[in-house]
Amino acid sequence: MKKKKSEIKENHVFINGKYFLKNEATVSVFDHGLLYGDGIFEGMRSYNGLVFRMEEHLDRLWESAKSIMLSIPYTKKQMNDLVIQTLQKNKLKDAYIRLVITRGTGDLGLDPRKCKVPTVFIISDKIVLYDGEIYAKGVEVVTVPTVRNFTEAVNPAIKSLNYLNNILAKIEATNAGFCDAVMLNHQGYVTECSGANIFIVKDGALFTPPTYVGALKGITRCAILDTARKLRVPFQERILTRHDLFNADECFLTGTAAEIVPVVKVDGRVIGNGKPGETTHSLTLGFRDLTKVDGVRYKI
Ligand code: PMP
Repeated sequence: MKKKKSEIKENHVFINGKYFLKNEATVSVFDHGLLYGDGIFEGMRSYNGLVFRMEEHLDRLWESAKSIMLSIPYTKKQMNDLVIQTLQKNKLKDAYIRLVITRGTGDLGLDPRKCKVPTVFIISDKIVLYDGEIYAKGVEVVTVPTVRNFTEAVNPAIKSLNYLNNILAKIEATNAGFCDAVMLNHQGYVTECSGANIFIVKDGALFTPPTYVGALKGITRCAILDTARKLRVPFQERILTRHDLFNADECFLTGTAAEIVPVVKVDGRVIGNGKPGETTHSLTLGFRDLTKVDGVRYKI
């Protein structure tokens, strides 16, 4: 049956104070976000009218901005309200939210001082759920030749619009027929995946690499560590090698959109018994409880 026009939800995108229909939401070709990847972003998620850990996302956004000397033209409170307003405008209770701030439009040179006004846009749309099979069966990942950016070059803690490092890793993994790449740093230590943090469970304890090896301080990562504390699962942020991954009892990835994804093989080595693990399962349940309460509520 054809939908009546009133039933078709039009999606609105916020750009610098105005709303545009999705297919009319554009930025300039002179925007340095496009020309140089000069900008920062956040990916957030709302669950049944609650933006999960929005305060933490905004804190990370402000930290990224500080690091690249970009001044955000709103206060955190104003940004919080704009995100909610966008969700309300699009009548979304369960959404994926992409908040982007670029240096703005300038000339063809690099100089950020030529960009007078940052471009701020907020996209919110229905959350596209991952195939249930990846959670039930787990995924296989591989380490890839592309090394994670040096923290002294572009620090992976900055959630910047420069994602080529991650994209190259993703391409290498998919070329090899795997869904995601485990990225190592220049010393061979495990950092994270192309768009997710990584954890292992060994002898009942949980381990994840410290962010200084070259990983993003994931909001889901923090939520998992909080859940581990609550469930009394011992945990430690610790340097991990490929050897540690291969010999883990369990392994999983975390990220806002995919949440917690069990890993059952790394570089052809079976992890544990080759099935998603018990601790991964309990942490997932604990995480789901958090998504019901921990964030900013809004009404449609
Ligand atoms: N690492 C990278 C490189 C990411 O892009 C992301 C976000 N997709 C994550 C980790 C996970 O972070 P979060 O839990 O905040 O989504």
